[in-house]
Amino acid sequence: MEKRDYYEVLGVSRNATSDEIKKAYRRLARKYHPDANPNDKDAEAKFKEISEAYVVLSDPEKRANYDRFGHAGVDGQGFGGFDFGDFGGLGDIFDIFFGTGGRTRRRAGPERGADIRTDIEITLKEAAFGVEREVRVPRIETCSTCGGSGAAVGSRPKTCPACAGTGEVQFAQSTIFGRIVQSRTCDRCRGTGQIIEKPCPTCRGTGSVRKTRSIKVKVPPGVDNGSRLRIAGEGEAGTRGGPPGDLYVYIHVKQHNLFRREGDDLICEIPLSFVQAALGAEIDVPTLEGVEKLKIPEGTQPGTVFRIRGKGIPHLNGFGRGDQHVRVKVIIPGKLSERQKELLREFARLGDGEPVQGRGHTGDKSFFERMKDAFMG
Ligand SMILES: [Zn+2]
Ligand SMILES: [Zn+2]
Repeated sequence: MEKRDYYEVLGVSRNATSDEIKKAYRRLARKYHPDANPNDKDAEAKFKEISEAYVVLSDPEKRANYDRFGHAGVDGQGFGGFDFGDFGGLGDIFDIFFGTGGRTRRRAGPERGADIRTDIEITLKEAAFGVEREVRVPRIETCSTCGGSGAAVGSRPKTCPACAGTGEVQFAQSTIFGRIVQSRTCDRCRGTGQIIEKPCPTCRGTGSVRKTRSIKVKVPPGVDNGSRLRIAGEGEAGTRGGPPGDLYVYIHVKQHNLFRREGDDLICEIPLSFVQAALGAEIDVPTLEGVEKLKIPEGTQPGTVFRIRGKGIPHLNGFGRGDQHVRVKVIIPGKLSERQKELLREFARLGDGEPVQGRGHTGDKSFFERMKDAFMG
């Protein structure tokens, strides 16, 4: 049978990049994988064909030979006399073929420490203006007695005799390609390549210890409920010289009994007597920083919102602040003395019997006019 062109087999152009070749191969290998096509001789043949093409095209030297001399240039380097030992792409085949079994971890290198989460609760005022807090964080730290090596003072970790310090051991396995040698993580040293004969008494040879630390947290002005602060390098220690993780501080803002926050604005409700609303007044309004005077004009309607500029929450990553919105709640007295009632009746007699129109309604039809419209159609 005539051998098909390798580029054609993988469905790539002759000047495809190695990445394109790899992608094409992976896609096809998944499709024709024997596990996905049990007892399908055609799929198996196809799988072998694409694997052979990949073996050649993924190797720059073999690919150059193939480009120049065709199949003759790589004869004996395809699957017939193919040497798995120097097949760089073997890991890829095994990833697809055997799940994760094929690619073993090389000797365990430095690993970054884990991140830690901690939560703090602050007041609205602290959220607005910032606060410094101390949090207690239990974490894993590098053992200071042995400096993380795990070996007792005066001794050193020894090279693992089982794997000669490589962290992995070889073993043979039978596959459809034949008997091949694979490697796996060394059990004796758990992939570290080192054996500790005299463990450090402080950390019992692990190289790390558990400690609870007090860490200062600077909460910046403007944080909101649910904000997350990252404190770099204050997480768990890394292993084998790896960098530490980070500490994440989650902010919870307690509810305030006067203010509600909306973005960087604050909203509060202020009670006014109906006399203050009708005649106007200057009132004291609480703000985050103290008390602010606010002029209420005469004829203010219930629900009117006044804005006090710049008295809200400072913007988190910039300049300026939100505003404070003051919503007026007009209180109608529940208990009146006889004299007060008398005055109100007098007041009513002076009016024309319908509610006094406020400023906000100037130009509006009165309620009674609108009612009349509604009934007369
Ligand atoms: Zn130690
Ligand atoms: Zn070992």
